[in-house]
Amino acid sequence: MLGEGMLKGLAETAKNFAGSFVSKDRLTTVQYPEERAPVIENTRDFPFLVYDGADDASDEAKLAGLRCVACQICEKECPPKCIYIVKSTDKKPDYVGKPQIYPARFDIDISVCMSCQICVEVCPFEAIKMDTEFELSTTDRFGGLLYDREQLARSNQHYHKIHPTEAAEVDARLAEEKAKSEAKAKAAAEAAALKAAAAAAPKPVVPAAIEQKEPTA
Ligand code: SF4
Ligand code: SF4
Repeated sequence: MLGEGMLKGLAETAKNFAGSFVSKDRLTTVQYPEERAPVIENTRDFPFLVYDGADDASDEAKLAGLRCVACQICEKECPPKCIYIVKSTDKKPDYVGKPQIYPARFDIDISVCMSCQICVEVCPFEAIKMDTEFELSTTDRFGGLLYDREQLARSNQHYHKIHPTEAAEVDARLAEEKAKSEAKAKAAAEAAALKAAAAAAPKPVVPAAIEQKEPTA
């Protein structure tokens, strides 16, 4: 029937409108900012850099705990090119204790970021994730939304608070990698110790060669 779809749509709207007076679930608008809609787990707004440590860690501890190794993959893949990274000239241990380069500078221009999450998808080190914070407006139009690594650093605790399922999976994967790496290092150390012990052991005494005398005619 002509217009059937339109009538169904109007009926649904009327049902929700009338229902919203008796059921809070049908009320799809909230009186922001006095009221807030609950933030669902898969919400994503802008990226942050994960550091291993507590929420209230000192600035030095936050930077020391950053998982980022400044590989610059996210910088290359970011479609609007709003990530800027400068590599360090020295190294610090990563989560498995391996010395790694770290970002001496890591900036994201949030005013340009389009929340596509590509940086998160391409990061091999679980070092960058999407936050759920959206109230970022500022009156500083030129520098207010250019975030440096200190502003971007958020703890793994924070990651667990906003994306608990995903963060638990990441932790399990990193713990598995760390265990494998520790087992490999232990096996290498044991092999080296065995080799050293073998080299230090006294050599068996070889009897002097008996001179073969020429048979006399
Ligand atoms: S979310 Fe997308 S646009 Fe934003 S920094 Fe990451 S890759 Fe770039
Ligand atoms: S956030 Fe990830 S992809 Fe980007 S530079 Fe750091 S380690 Fe590399």
